[in-house]
Amino acid sequence: MKTKGQRCSFCGRNSSETLMILSGLEGHICDQCTDQAHKITEKELGFSNQSIPLKNNTPGKTAKKLPKPTEIKAFLDQYVIGQDQAKKILSVAVYNHYKRLDSRKLGTENDVEIEKSNILLIGETGTGKTLLAKTLARILDVPFCIADATVLTEAGYVGDDVESILSRLLQVANYKPELAERGIIYLDEMDKISRKGDNASITRDVSGEGVQQGLLKILEGTIANVAPEGGRKHPDQKYIKLDTTNILFICGGAFDGIEKIISRRVQKNVLGFKRDANREINDKKLLSLVSPPDLRSYGIIPELIGRLPIITALDSLDRPTLKSILSDPKNAILKQYQYLFSLDGVDIEFEDAAIDFIVEIAFEHKLGARGLRGICETILQDFMYTIPGSKRKSKVLITKTIAEEKWNRLEIQRFAS
Ligand code: ADP
Repeated sequence: MKTKGQRCSFCGRNSSETLMILSGLEGHICDQCTDQAHKITEKELGFSNQSIPLKNNTPGKTAKKLPKPTEIKAFLDQYVIGQDQAKKILSVAVYNHYKRLDSRKLGTENDVEIEKSNILLIGETGTGKTLLAKTLARILDVPFCIADATVLTEAGYVGDDVESILSRLLQVANYKPELAERGIIYLDEMDKISRKGDNASITRDVSGEGVQQGLLKILEGTIANVAPEGGRKHPDQKYIKLDTTNILFICGGAFDGIEKIISRRVQKNVLGFKRDANREINDKKLLSLVSPPDLRSYGIIPELIGRLPIITALDSLDRPTLKSILSDPKNAILKQYQYLFSLDGVDIEFEDAAIDFIVEIAFEHKLGARGLRGICETILQDFMYTIPGSKRKSKVLITKTIAEEKWNRLEIQRFAS
């Protein structure tokens, strides 16, 4: 590496004064300067103390600085409309989670051990629970997976073992337990595993309580034997040991009917309200008052509630939010269609009144944000069919009249069939 006569382009030392000189395209650098440069980058980028592993699954490899809660929230804002409270709570929880991991890694002298805080998101279906979790995964360079609580069954029954959700995380982490052990799991449909009791919901699963019991350990922290391929365990299988102590669990569920339980608790009978705007406001407020006793009445066992110390409710989506979801997020539905049409050289625009019409249909039919895409698809179907073959139209304006006509035609077809 050392060639006589070479000088470090940074400090000017010659080869006899250094251990090593590396050559670049137009210059050289000595070992002392590379060492210095490494220290400066560590200090400037904060790599040494506040690092998180990269998603590309190289243990020990360090990545960009751990984003601050405000930065995490700002990122979520680009993709998820509203839900400010949930975004703040998630940002703080995730930030604290990784601070906690780093403090462990550094082996601080302090005896205080920060415990992990798993999270429970409660909100109607289609309000953005999964979207929040997915978007979080995009900023965090840690293994992340989404699992569904309804496919889990108690040991001995047909279905997946509770540990199967860990298999997914392990797969995402390229089967490297040391990486999976710092990951995040979003566990959806938590309400569907509530046990039978004085619960208002009719969607409960009979084996729910057994699954809840099974989840206790992995949520709290245990060394689990995980079958790499997932599914149900069998005797000949090889297992990978996974410590779940540092895995963050974000659980989500609609908890249909929990408002009535909350209302009973706060001694306000929601049935007394008419189905009007007041009713909506009151329902919305009620959900934000959700607390552990309500979950208990709903059929979640107290031990499991204890392992989900952060509970937050998501707002139901009103008309302005639905409208914003259509056009504002980075990958908003209307932007996606505009891009799709632009690939065929067509510029498509939506009249404001047409957007309001789409929102109204979604709201009136209680289709939520999930329904917005379906409505757009119905309205644009004919255009998507004819445009690719025709060279004439390079600009399309979707007016309210067009939107109404396309939608109503479908309604008539449905009625006739
Ligand atoms: P949930 O998990 O609460 O049932 P999702 O997160 O799967 O709902 O939402 C369904 C779809 O609706 C998402 O893919 C997204 O397109 C849209 N959506 C729902 N809520 C929002 C929101 N708050 N902001 C932006 N898009 C949303």
